[in-house]
Amino acid sequence: MRHRLLALSLLICLPPTAALAASPESWSWPLDDHRLGARFDPPASDYGPGHRGIDIAAGVGDVVRAVAPGRVTFAGRVGGVPVVTIDHGRERSTYQPVRARVRVGDAVHAREVIGTLLGSPSHCAGTCLHLGRRAGKNYLDPLDLLGGGRFRLIDPSGPPPAPPTGMVGSLRRPVGGPITSPYGMRVHPVTGVRKLHDGTDFGVPCGTPVHAAASGTVIGTGHSGAYGKRVVVRHRPGLTTTYNHLSSQSVSPGDRVAAGRVVGRSGTTGLSTGCHLHFMVLVDGHPVDPQASV
Ligand SMILES: [Zn+2]
Ligand SMILES: [Zn+2]
Repeated sequence: MRHRLLALSLLICLPPTAALAASPESWSWPLDDHRLGARFDPPASDYGPGHRGIDIAAGVGDVVRAVAPGRVTFAGRVGGVPVVTIDHGRERSTYQPVRARVRVGDAVHAREVIGTLLGSPSHCAGTCLHLGRRAGKNYLDPLDLLGGGRFRLIDPSGPPPAPPTGMVGSLRRPVGGPITSPYGMRVHPVTGVRKLHDGTDFGVPCGTPVHAAASGTVIGTGHSGAYGKRVVVRHRPGLTTTYNHLSSQSVSPGDRVAAGRVVGRSGTTGLSTGCHLHFMVLVDGHPVDPQASV
């Protein structure tokens, strides 16, 4: 009997992470109310279109709770969007747009309030929480865990959680010149269709050097239909910028670039009416207004 008691007290005294490693769990809902909006729609490529999480409809000011125990590794603006990231060991959960009540380094328990939901910037028709689930660079479907799936919180033999990079939403302007068309809904000058203009246009002559808005890694330099010749730079997990309609590219995939490095020259390739730079900022795959961050 005494031995059993001793064993039990030893178990209780294990550090929390070790205890979690031994007890896989699922996620709990981050909002008290959970009406699902857009579902997870993983992109075919790193920077392709898609929906890298799920949207949960809620009200402005609703409390947002941690989906599982973990540690806050980011609480700040990414491309103008306030984001909280919690590291659970092998996986991370991300919440946006959220006014954080936690700080980087805070340990949180499941269902602990981490902030309140903001009304904007939002990519939903109404107010919603965009909840993401990531393992390394990969995006996973949060619903697999919210639906009662199993989740291994900490792998004691795995790599330690990556520290936050400290990058926040301050990007440099990639070129000078006037803003000739801002981000937002508009009638497309070529197709005549009313849709989201998903970036900011800078009016510059063809051949103008285009600079990286922040340091990062080049993850794409292809030719992409309407965007023409483009360069895609990833600055940190979840934050990407793209430079479109270029006449030439001067970097290759895999290149590390410093902020301000010339990545190419402006042009009018793709669906474009004249020389300009179409500059995009993507947060977790969603375009956001670049003018909120440059
Ligand atoms: Zn979303
Ligand atoms: Zn444009």
